Amino acid sequence: MMDSMISENVKNIELSGIRKFYNKVAKVEGALSLTLGQPDFPVPEKIKQAVINAVEENKTTYTSNEGIPELRSEICNYLKGMDINYTKEEVCITVGGSEGLMDVFATFINPGDKILIPSPAYPAYESCVKLLGGHVINYDLEGDEFLINCDSLIEIIQREKPKLLVLSYPSNPTGCVLGKEIRDKLNNIILENDILVVSDEMYSSLSFEDKYYSIAQCENIRNKIVLVGGFSKMFSMTGLRVGYVCAAKGFIESIVKVHQYNVSCAPSIVQWGAYAGLKEALVDVEHMRQEFINRRDFLYNELKALGFEVTLPQGAFYMFPSIKKFNMKSEEFCDSLLYNGKVAIVPGSAFGSGGEGYVRISYASSKKELAKAVERIKLWMNTYCNL
Ligand code: PLP
Repeated sequence: MMDSMISENVKNIELSGIRKFYNKVAKVEGALSLTLGQPDFPVPEKIKQAVINAVEENKTTYTSNEGIPELRSEICNYLKGMDINYTKEEVCITVGGSEGLMDVFATFINPGDKILIPSPAYPAYESCVKLLGGHVINYDLEGDEFLINCDSLIEIIQREKPKLLVLSYPSNPTGCVLGKEIRDKLNNIILENDILVVSDEMYSSLSFEDKYYSIAQCENIRNKIVLVGGFSKMFSMTGLRVGYVCAAKGFIESIVKVHQYNVSCAPSIVQWGAYAGLKEALVDVEHMRQEFINRRDFLYNELKALGFEVTLPQGAFYMFPSIKKFNMKSEEFCDSLLYNGKVAIVPGSAFGSGGEGYVRISYASSKKELAKAVERIKLWMNTYCNL
């Protein structure tokens, strides 16, 4: 009886595989967890102070639905530094990237619309689309470099006629970034086909390459692109919940409508915090980025020495090594490592069928924790793996 009351769309989605695994970890005493996307840095002082000041100055009322103009302007400045051009009228501040993603999908999806989503990918895309009655079509990311095969993408677009293409770079879970060559090919594909792009750039501040490439840099298709970004990872403030969506005027007005009925506005005091962050805490962001590069290099070398096949990530703070040679499914691998080795990492299958054969290790923990985890993985491999 109770079950029959739940909507079919809700029945069709599951709790995220990342959360499910996290819940298992919580029950294993002494387990070292490298599962979640929360950096171990504190929120930069300037941001904390700005939030406190906003409370003391009673900046605690609703803001405009789109968010405070000061922050929207600063977001435009920040994006301009990456050759991405929006005006503040084209920006809406959201409750984290999550609300931004849901608003965008709700703005475009009619029941039955086809949406192209990469596999492996952040699991929320698929769940949001299903919640709205959309139809998910996966496109595979190929090889250990997880590249888009543009020929097969064109073929899928022409066969299936999807309404939206989701791009997700720097990638959770693979750590890959968008290169110039593929960005340019995607530019042509989008120009020539009747399709919109949702580009999730939540980790834009954590690219380890010299130059940042984004589909949102392509001015000739700007009317076909919606950019989702945020500050959860950038300022290590996942619990403070501020993100943003940028889109050309014709779209942003509709996105703001959805946003308005969802949440009215993002939390006022944290909008002031993010504003101070963009004005005064970019040095902290650079410090975190350098530290992530150090940790990435450390973990990469250690995993290589243990015999893992792994691609050097170019962004975000995740490593996605192959476990194919262990002859175990990713969930079996992670269960055994958790229960027998006391290290928690996420099965690649949590990111879709394209993630099977891989595991996601977050290096958002300190080098000391990472070193401990590597030691435990080594011991576990010696006892439980026949390589
Ligand atoms: N997009 C990606 C790729 C993510 O990894 C995450 C969070 O892990 C989000 C969006 C959601 O970000 P937020 O915490 O700001 O809602």
